Amino acid sequence: MKLFTVGPVEMFPEMAEITSKQLPYFRTEEFSALMLENEVLFKESIWAPADAKTIFLTASGTAAMEAAVINCFDKKDRLLVINGGGFGKRFAEICQIHRIPHDILTLAFGEVLTREKLDTYSMAGYTGLLVNLHETTTGQLYDIHMLAEFCEANDMYFVADGISTYGADAIHFQKDKIDVLIVSSQKALALAPGLSIVVVSDRIYRHKILKTDSGCMYLDFKMHMQDMKRGQTPFTPAVEILLALNWRLKQIRSMGMEKLIKRTAVLADSFRKGAKEVGFKVPDYPLSNALTPLILEPDARMFYERLKEEYGLVVTPSGGELENKLIRVGHLGNLCEEDYDRLLEAMKLVRESL
Ligand SMILES: *Cc1c(COP(=O)(O)O)cnc(C)c1O
Repeated sequence: MKLFTVGPVEMFPEMAEITSKQLPYFRTEEFSALMLENEVLFKESIWAPADAKTIFLTASGTAAMEAAVINCFDKKDRLLVINGGGFGKRFAEICQIHRIPHDILTLAFGEVLTREKLDTYSMAGYTGLLVNLHETTTGQLYDIHMLAEFCEANDMYFVADGISTYGADAIHFQKDKIDVLIVSSQKALALAPGLSIVVVSDRIYRHKILKTDSGCMYLDFKMHMQDMKRGQTPFTPAVEILLALNWRLKQIRSMGMEKLIKRTAVLADSFRKGAKEVGFKVPDYPLSNALTPLILEPDARMFYERLKEEYGLVVTPSGGELENKLIRVGHLGNLCEEDYDRLLEAMKLVRESL
């Protein structure tokens, strides 16, 4: 089996070494030191300033999305949600469940988020923007600079779900004036699922988080931040993933984040070129380096099944309306050029026999 998925992804062999060992107890100085190092390394990887704060949640990405919303906003806010697919829809549902006033900018499949579309929501009294920098269900990458400028011009907090963007496309926390960035363990970090990392700006911490009642115990940022001052978490964390994270962040530091992104871009570009050359259809909206969507209507689901059953190559299938229209080929984790050569060969054979 080879995973061309977006999470979990192909992991690095060194990880098995770390996670197959007896776990340490975590209320210790050694573990606190590791957590504080994780914080420094992670912030470094997104160019976050010293006064930004980090929260480690033992939960999948959706919990971190929900936590960001309930810790930063309440009924007095008015949010704008970009809904260009399943993950944008999720942000809107979170707002609805927690009764936080919001409007939704909905994009149809294939529709590009442009400045003109955003500007129709300008000067409308919104206090924050909720957006998935890369809408993973379609592969569309939004223009982070455009979003940052829009938030600044409209005096809105910028809440960015960078779960499938981190490690694949450039994110500069400080330059892009991000207030909340959400990342999860199972995408480009290539770790087991179950850990999410949230970094918040000092301004949203002081002006919103400190003044907002999250109404939740497990996901309360204030409690997490208090404990994180000494490298601890309020509840038992995913110790194993945090140990592996330390290894992975050191690997990313020695390689350099720009280089990791560049490498992902090279894999994505060469796969796209190869796929187009043999007649596969790649949508023309701006794409993240994290994955390549391929339009295979109406056989997408069958194509995915056949690649998996006959060749042991697992691409990412789509759900809902896109199930039979789109497959997504991931470029995250421990993959190399030869893996894509094999995949492309298999894709050609499966297509011939459909
Ligand atoms: C993977 C992903 C998530 C997290 O989903 P979970 O299943 O809760 O881990 C959230 N947002 C985006 C954009 C993602 O790609």
